[in-house]
Amino acid sequence: MEAELLAWYERTKRDLPWRETRDPYAILVSEVMLQQTQVDRVVPRYLEWLERWPTTADLAGASAGDVIRAWQGLGYNRRAIALHNAAKAIAESGWPDDLTTLPGVGPYTAAAVRNFALGEPILPIDVNVARIQKRTGCDFSPASGQALMDLGATVCLARIPRCDICPLAAGCPSRGQRSEPARKQSHFEGSFRQRRAELLRLVADAPRDFAELDSAVVESLLRDGLIARDGVLVTLPS
Ligand code: SF4
Repeated sequence: MEAELLAWYERTKRDLPWRETRDPYAILVSEVMLQQTQVDRVVPRYLEWLERWPTTADLAGASAGDVIRAWQGLGYNRRAIALHNAAKAIAESGWPDDLTTLPGVGPYTAAAVRNFALGEPILPIDVNVARIQKRTGCDFSPASGQALMDLGATVCLARIPRCDICPLAAGCPSRGQRSEPARKQSHFEGSFRQRRAELLRLVADAPRDFAELDSAVVESLLRDGLIARDGVLVTLPS
């Protein structure tokens, strides 16, 4: 089954900029951006980011405010602070043996950096890869990491898998099954998360008077280090 997957990947693989590098920092940036943002939205932002901060040392030397401003629109802004703090840790002490000790780096992201950048034989298993393994019953090797990403994103979809065009269909015991529950509605509209995103956007545009702002949201963003307060003024961190 793995041979069919790899042959399919060779024919159809998506042309993504982070597949053209083995730089661990570039892979880390792409993986953190991809954690909760779609590929199409990440591609231009990834390219801009690396042009502005091509190395961990460059990112470590940036102000938190500039990093947060550059992240606007990608969502889940805490990732920006975590990535900035990870760059500072690497710039100071080098890459740790255990990448999960870096801020914002969980087991999946660590495995992705170790496989895609360092070429280590570890298969990064995210929700897509786990789904394909479960459906096919196949234990794929680390060489299939990128191919599985593409299959999960374009063919073996969570709700309605496209078995008719799947390279694994001939040997897949789940072929034709549609067993996933319906996708839950996003509750972003009107949510606390949306209020956080809007307030952060306001403060990224210009410092604001604390009295004008939603205090619960301010407290939450202050706790995460995404904003700073100087007397009555709320700003991005310096
Ligand atoms: S045949 Fe269908 S369920 Fe099986 S791996 Fe392919 S898309 Fe997924």
